[in-house]
Amino acid sequence: MKRLFIQSVFIVGLVLSSIATASNFPIEEPMGGKPFGHSVKNMGDGLYVFRWWVYRNIFMVTDKGVIVTDPMNPKAAHLLLGEIRKITDKPIKYVVYSHNHHDHISGGQVFKDQGATFIAHKNVLKELADHPTPATPLPDITFEDEYTVELGGRTLELKYFGPNHGESLVVMRLPKEKILFIVDIVTPRRVAFRAMPDFWPDEWIRSLQEIEQMDFDYVISAHGSHQQPAIDPSTVVAEQRIYLEDLMAAVKAEFDKGMHSPDKLRQIVKLPKYKDWQFYNEWLPMNIERIWAYYHMGW
Ligand SMILES: [Zn+2]
Repeated sequence: MKRLFIQSVFIVGLVLSSIATASNFPIEEPMGGKPFGHSVKNMGDGLYVFRWWVYRNIFMVTDKGVIVTDPMNPKAAHLLLGEIRKITDKPIKYVVYSHNHHDHISGGQVFKDQGATFIAHKNVLKELADHPTPATPLPDITFEDEYTVELGGRTLELKYFGPNHGESLVVMRLPKEKILFIVDIVTPRRVAFRAMPDFWPDEWIRSLQEIEQMDFDYVISAHGSHQQPAIDPSTVVAEQRIYLEDLMAAVKAEFDKGMHSPDKLRQIVKLPKYKDWQFYNEWLPMNIERIWAYYHMGW
């Protein structure tokens, strides 16, 4: 697996001309307790990956301006704008929200002040109306199933797969590079996030199956520390789906034997195949509790 990844990175390097770390400024901050910092990776051909702590987005620099995705939070957004300004003085034209969750999009005002147009799935409007946050501008352009952002000869395709993590998450595709930018529903080599907040397990699996049918070779995921690669081979989507299927099957097997106690299930169910994945020890019991709720409550 590791070898496959190294080969894939090499291929991406060839295809996209160069992968280079433009900058890396580790700083200690109370939240997280680890090197927090931010960095920018130049993927070549105007595509960049910006990382702040364990959050990532992509931005695209074109002759006509810049397309930004998920502005994270005010602090990260200021840092991101500063990094963009080291690369280009072209206007920030578009900001694309991946979904409604505040931890990914609440820095939007920084780019609204730059005159950017905001794009998101239509359900983001309703969700931000229900859970407003002051520094998060409402989208100017919304869509139902698909939308294509075009600027300066570059294309970013947005596709909605229905509910999976919330009800507004879109997957972004760069058709020329065959790269997907996937937020929250694919995090390579990591078990599912804690107790899977706002994740619908069965819809999540269905969405991943549909994503696997898309035309792509690489995945940039929105979560990863400074030690994780910025880009992964397409196989990480299937790996995430199979993990969820294994998790659900393991909980269901015990459930069918009559074990309905979430506390006991957290102790009994193990998935040794994934023992090397990040947060296996810490989050697997929480994942199990979420799946217990799925079978116990039908939720
Ligand atoms: Zn989320």
